[in-house]
Amino acid sequence: MEGPPIKATTYVGDTALTAPPFFDNAVRGDKTLWGSRTRGPRVINWTGLSHEDRKAILPSRRLTSDWSLFALAGITKPGTTPFLLKGSKKAMTTKGKAFRKRKWWQSGDDELAEYDKKVEVWVSSNNNISEDSLDELEALLNSNLTKDNPHNGTEGVEGSYWTGTEAGLMGIPLFPGLIYATDGSQEKGNMGAGFYRHQGATGGYCKVGRDEEGASSNRAEHAAACIALEDATQFAGSRRPLILLTDSKCLLMAIQKWIGEGIDSSIKASPDGDILRDILELLSRIELGLFTLFVKIKSHRGEFFNEMAHRWADKGRDTEEEARWTSLRQRPIFTWAVPGKVHCSTMNKVVKTRAHLIAARLRVPDNHNRTAEFLKKEGNCRSDLGDHWKDKRVSMRAKRRLLQSISFQFPCAANFKKWGLQEDDECRLCKVLHPNLPAFPECLGHIQGYCKALQKPRIAVHHGIWRDLLMHISRQSLEKNEDGSRVWTFPTTVNAAKHEEWEMRDILVHIGLMTNTQEGRSKIGKETTEFHYEMPVGYWDEEEANDHEPEAFLKVRPDEVAFNMKATICAFLEFTRPMDSRDGASAQPDWYTGTDWTLDWAQDKNTRYVRHLEFIWWLSKRLGVKWTAVQYNFTVGIRGSAIESAWEHRLTKLGIDKKESRVAIRKQAIRKTLELSDVMLRQFHVAIHTSPEWAQLALADDISNTTTERFNLYKKSMGPMSGLQSMPL
Ligand SMILES: [Zn+2]
Repeated sequence: MEGPPIKATTYVGDTALTAPPFFDNAVRGDKTLWGSRTRGPRVINWTGLSHEDRKAILPSRRLTSDWSLFALAGITKPGTTPFLLKGSKKAMTTKGKAFRKRKWWQSGDDELAEYDKKVEVWVSSNNNISEDSLDELEALLNSNLTKDNPHNGTEGVEGSYWTGTEAGLMGIPLFPGLIYATDGSQEKGNMGAGFYRHQGATGGYCKVGRDEEGASSNRAEHAAACIALEDATQFAGSRRPLILLTDSKCLLMAIQKWIGEGIDSSIKASPDGDILRDILELLSRIELGLFTLFVKIKSHRGEFFNEMAHRWADKGRDTEEEARWTSLRQRPIFTWAVPGKVHCSTMNKVVKTRAHLIAARLRVPDNHNRTAEFLKKEGNCRSDLGDHWKDKRVSMRAKRRLLQSISFQFPCAANFKKWGLQEDDECRLCKVLHPNLPAFPECLGHIQGYCKALQKPRIAVHHGIWRDLLMHISRQSLEKNEDGSRVWTFPTTVNAAKHEEWEMRDILVHIGLMTNTQEGRSKIGKETTEFHYEMPVGYWDEEEANDHEPEAFLKVRPDEVAFNMKATICAFLEFTRPMDSRDGASAQPDWYTGTDWTLDWAQDKNTRYVRHLEFIWWLSKRLGVKWTAVQYNFTVGIRGSAIESAWEHRLTKLGIDKKESRVAIRKQAIRKTLELSDVMLRQFHVAIHTSPEWAQLALADDISNTTTERFNLYKKSMGPMSGLQSMPL
């Protein structure tokens, strides 16, 4: 804003850095930023005050009437100080770019912002503001400028304020010669240069050419210095001493090489040699004994000279006038397109990366090894691997281990043997901890899915992924019945950190197939036995058929159970994290073929509960009700594979009616699986390098301290073993 709209001398709000300098006094709450008066005509920026600061100024607002208050409109949040006060009235409500962007001094983006809320102005009811003042104020508040114009007045305290800035501290405003500030600006491939000349409070700008070779802020900075020096030769007879403020260190470094005797340098090698040559010519004034000083200042600190140059540079960028310095350097220019944008540049790091990427893509069809086969597999969410790779939250070490896993190169005994580095491929952990078990080859599948020594961390990892996934499923299952109630209920999902597991018994009670009384319990026991006898011989595996003790049968706990009370469907939900392709070792079950990895694992999972599902059908038919039981398996391979169609189908069935939600849930499950599968590899690594016994602790301190919170792991693993691959003893 150009100046105070009302005759206020005190400003309340903001910090010493951001409070407008043209006020005699600035205060915040009960702290004085500068000046001595805290009362008297004052402007209050309510939105810029904290809760405590607001409370501190309330009494003075009550007692006096010479204040006006600005605040974003809206209902005051409970617990904060309302700006409505008895004895005050609203002077206006309006909208416009009346605020600077939040934390502009940090981002350097000093643009003005318009909030989606309106601005309200309040005054004391005893205060009569003239209509003219209100009109003037409204016009200011309705401003649509993208940046406000810095005002460097010298009235009152303004002079003192400016002596406190970087240039002010150096005494530059008092310099008797010419003061220039220069700046370059570039946006969307356009380059602009601008300068501000303090004498005459004016400036100049130009567009900078050769953007075909790629825009660079250095080039714009060079151009800005050049046009400032040109201006100096024309202005005031060119014989006056000169100070030029720039925020570009590169510019100073480039010029430095040519000052005095100079170091051995060739202008041809400089990317902006065309402009540098012009600058050096203009600097011949130095040889005439004319004082010329370039000063580096920090940009975007609200420093007046820099801010002014900034605005002139923006003009240069946006101008329609013809650009200067347009002749190309006779260098090859590369053009490439990413969706929605075409880039061009001479050879540089970015061009090289793009070229490597394109070359790599062209090579893909030529590769036929197992890694290539894995990566080329369609419909398995491979793009999520790419997203994981790009994710900055994932450590480089974790990414390297993932790369090793995908390319079948994880450093383990099975691979060492394959590469001829050692004779023995037996698991180093199992060998020590379970010497009486048959030897297992130490391959990735063994470490992730079977290794007996890593069972505890594995259980924690399984539950960590599953709880997170369940929470998302239960929250996003929004399909509704006609009466507005949710179609699916997930009674056992408590939250991300905890979920109860129901026994078969609890499930039967929930759907009304059994009563939880002495009588009910003995009845269900009889029915269980009867059910098992009724099934035809050979229907079960022998082992299963023998295991029909009602107690054990009713104690089985699926990972999770969901109910559709209206359609009377009871769904068992299971999560598996198998090795998602054959990794060349023999730890997989015999029937494992490696052609469709999820089918194989589903088969294993389905047989686990098939009798229980069948029992629900059988019993409900017997009782004359219509309950059906189904099982939905959710599977993510340890290397991030997930069959897209299977997830889509199961999540739709469970009432997640939005496509985006289904995709987001799947993506999150993959991310979590990749993260936690990496935890397993770390556990293995530490166990190998410390002692095998270490791995047997519930979760070693390093994991529980650093990652439990992030990964939602229990310090002590709990819950049943279902859903985990463990070798039978
Ligand atoms: Zn092992």
